[in-house]
Amino acid sequence: MRIDLHTHSSVSDGTDTPTALVHKAHDLGLDVIALTDHDTFDGVPQAIEAGKRIGLHVLTGVEMSCNVNGDSVHLLGYGCDRRNRALNEELATNRAARADRLQRFADRLTELGMPLTVADIKEQSGVSPSVGRPHIADAMVVRGYVGSRAEAFDLWLADDKPGYISRYSTPLEHAITLIHGAGGVAVLAHPWRKGHAAALTAEYISELATTHGLEGIEVDYPDHDEFTREQLFALGERLGLIRTGSSDYHGLGKVGHDLGCCLTRESAYRELVARIKRRGGKA
Ligand code: AMP
Ligand code: ZN
Ligand code: FE
Ligand code: FE
Repeated sequence: MRIDLHTHSSVSDGTDTPTALVHKAHDLGLDVIALTDHDTFDGVPQAIEAGKRIGLHVLTGVEMSCNVNGDSVHLLGYGCDRRNRALNEELATNRAARADRLQRFADRLTELGMPLTVADIKEQSGVSPSVGRPHIADAMVVRGYVGSRAEAFDLWLADDKPGYISRYSTPLEHAITLIHGAGGVAVLAHPWRKGHAAALTAEYISELATTHGLEGIEVDYPDHDEFTREQLFALGERLGLIRTGSSDYHGLGKVGHDLGCCLTRESAYRELVARIKRRGGKA
């Protein structure tokens, strides 16, 4: 079985509609994908429907924007009840924080000599309820300030660059609790990708597993080198964590994350499904 458990659609900052994403996955011979848009479940029903029509299983997912003492990290939730009130309220808070910072981004980039308006950004995010930096990058491309999303991040928008504006995100331990409360299973996304590793030490991941019930970590991931994967695989084994592998596909505009380029082993997927069912979630 070919299983990719971390993908984005145009409902957040991917470029394929949920239906197009599912068709692409099917064409590539995948059997299961999870749609894990940033801070929203809005694309999931469409993806599930498209999957049913062509025989591809779509697992309900979400990638929550989180922080550890102010450092940004991402948490994947699988099998959650999409209508769970507490989880939805927190996702809405994260989305509002995304929207609230757009004016500050526009002001900052304007100060930096690249005049931009919130309307320019909204033209790129379209109907997406979860506006992210990739949309700002697209607006910069349209204005001719940079040639691509990647260049916009490298020069201006990455966390340590002059165009970066921070925002509210969910405290990580609270996010795990909310996912559990919605019947879902929590998997730490790309834990040792550049920018996340400092906040997510082996000791802290161990604490998350033992005292907060974290169920899994993403091990096979494009930005993790071979050594990092070996280390995470061993850490996960020691802690009894489910070890997933996924692409973090975003369509066009995020290079090196081709759909299905990293996959989850069938045994890990079966374990994930079993845990979701035990929690009362929907696999
Ligand atoms: P935000 O959600 O606003 O914090 O923006 C972060 C998102 O930008 C990440 O989740 C990725 O989807 C995307 N991203 C980060 N780095 C790059 C890059 N170099 N090129 C394209 N997209 C990126
Ligand atoms: Zn993204
Ligand atoms: Fe992420
Ligand atoms: Fe992602």
